[in-house]
Amino acid sequence: MVQTTIIDGKAIAAQLRADLASRIAKLKAAHGLVPGLAVVLVGEDPASQVYVRNKAKQTVEAGMASFDHRLEAETSETALLDLIASLNGEPSVHGILVQLPLPAQIDTARVLSAIDPAKDVDGFHPVNVGRLASGEDALSPCTPRGCIILAKHARADLTGLEAVVIGRSNIVGKPLLQLLLRENCTVTVAHSKTSDLPGVARRADLLFAAVGRAGLVTGDWIKPGATVIDVGINRIDTAEGKTKLAGDVDFASAQGVAGAITPVPGGVGPMTIACLLANTLDAACAINGQEAPAI
Ligand code: NDP
Repeated sequence: MVQTTIIDGKAIAAQLRADLASRIAKLKAAHGLVPGLAVVLVGEDPASQVYVRNKAKQTVEAGMASFDHRLEAETSETALLDLIASLNGEPSVHGILVQLPLPAQIDTARVLSAIDPAKDVDGFHPVNVGRLASGEDALSPCTPRGCIILAKHARADLTGLEAVVIGRSNIVGKPLLQLLLRENCTVTVAHSKTSDLPGVARRADLLFAAVGRAGLVTGDWIKPGATVIDVGINRIDTAEGKTKLAGDVDFASAQGVAGAITPVPGGVGPMTIACLLANTLDAACAINGQEAPAI
């Protein structure tokens, strides 16, 4: 029986935000530079409204400027592209985030490609995707960046480890593959067509689940002692007729097998916004030709 450590993403994210706040204060004092993040929300999706509110709150708490743009669900693609063009040209804005999903009349790829790559704090612009894949400096997507930080809390050096990522989306699985290669891991990316998924997962020293299926990964899929990072956020019904959040990993059966594991909620989730703030600081420094201050 392995002693399983719970990786406390909430505490790690809070520490990251506190470090960012002190670095931002230094940047302000030394250069009068205040990083600014613009968040654009189209429509009234309730979950997106909650995310956007949290992003704005944490941006301000870190000492950055927050610019909130709310557009009606019927907004045309042209109107959204016009707003992005004006944010691209606005010197007080260093990061632009367009909350996804966008309404059906808007071409998401066209909108993401219209963001200035230097301000693309979500890391979804094809230029940043290409830079990340070719090993150049890039703004990298926030959730995968958070996953690497959490994995490093369990294993300081990831070099040479066998990593398996379940899920190949553009926002999690594929960028995570690139970041793991940078950490010198040997990486397998699995998906819905993978043969013998449990056998593939059992090879992993580092197992990442980014699927969107509650409890898919059970304890018998996990190599004893492996570090398990659960990206999944699934809303499931409880016996009491309520709902609760659950990850892609069956937390109960993973206990006693995994060496370390992130809970859901309180694992990867809080890291995503913290890494968005980190990307905005990086973008502000790069745009202004400043070194990012140390802690
Ligand atoms: P997508 O739906 O875009 O991708 C899911 C991936 O899982 C696909 O590659 C799919 O394979 C694969 N998959 C689906 N079913 C299976 C299966 N039975 N076995 C193996 N692979 C399977 O999801 P996202 O990447 O956007 O999100 C994944 C999860 O992470 C979701 O729960 C989401 O809510 C969560 N998430 C959490 C974030 C956070 O901040 N913590 C941020 C972003 C996402 P295929 O390509 O073959 O279809």
